[in-house]
Amino acid sequence: MKIAIIGASGRMGKMLCSLAEGAGCEVVAKVDVAEGYDREWPKGTEGVVDFSFHAAVPAAISKAAEEGIPYVIGTTGLTADEQKVVDAAAKRIPVVQSGNYSLGVNLLLELVRKAAEVLGPEYDVEVTEMHHRHKKDAPSGTALMLAKSVAAGRGVDFGEKAIYGRHGEPGERPCGEIAIHALRGGSVVGDHTVMFAGDVERVELTHRAQSREAFAAGALKAVVWAAGKRPGAYNMRHVLGFDA
Ligand code: NAD
Repeated sequence: MKIAIIGASGRMGKMLCSLAEGAGCEVVAKVDVAEGYDREWPKGTEGVVDFSFHAAVPAAISKAAEEGIPYVIGTTGLTADEQKVVDAAAKRIPVVQSGNYSLGVNLLLELVRKAAEVLGPEYDVEVTEMHHRHKKDAPSGTALMLAKSVAAGRGVDFGEKAIYGRHGEPGERPCGEIAIHALRGGSVVGDHTVMFAGDVERVELTHRAQSREAFAAGALKAVVWAAGKRPGAYNMRHVLGFDA
């Protein structure tokens, strides 16, 4: 399968390029704003994998939609307007979008949902994430997905229950709050913990990514999977067959 990688000069882009062949993909365009990289993909490109910067996504996905090419988005931190462009493209092409392409985190999402269902709102949920000092957006797309899994497990509205960090005098913790905290430092690839803190016990579910290979392998699997699919908005649950 002939694929283009957007953000090819970045940390994830380089990992994707190095794993592509083993996943049955030929990289026909390494697209990046950095010097020495391609500015666009050639005719005959069969899939696009985007791990770049949120502001770059709308133009690139619109072009893919024009050309009928499946699109895999790993890039996180999209604004609401940027997300609308992605949603519009998904009416014309298959779009796989996930804040985390690793098998482990996608399993964790299931476990967290189940834990939230069983433990209930009397267990206070604190989601923490830590990433390397170069990460540009916060909290991570994965932390948001995990917090949304908690909300789904509890059957509550995520937007109403989520808070991001604390400072000053926030007062007593309201029951049912879902708190998300972002730590930054060093070279950490990506750590996430969802803590359920009860009165007499605490449950902590943790994932630690040890290499970007975990994300790149999943994203390449997703682009191969997307080839020939109907237009639509897909995520890793579909790719991994969790709903099958
Ligand atoms: P990075 O900064 O190392 O790489 C981003 C690359 O995108 C850079 O080379 C930059 O020059 C390029 N870029 C910026 N604007 C561009 C444009 N307009 N057109 C083409 N290229 C452009 O970042 P990274 O650590 O590789 O992460 C990239 C993105 O992927 C981030 O949003 C990050 O949060 C996300 N990410 C997602 C997952 C996942 O599993 N979904 C995993 C890791 C990282």
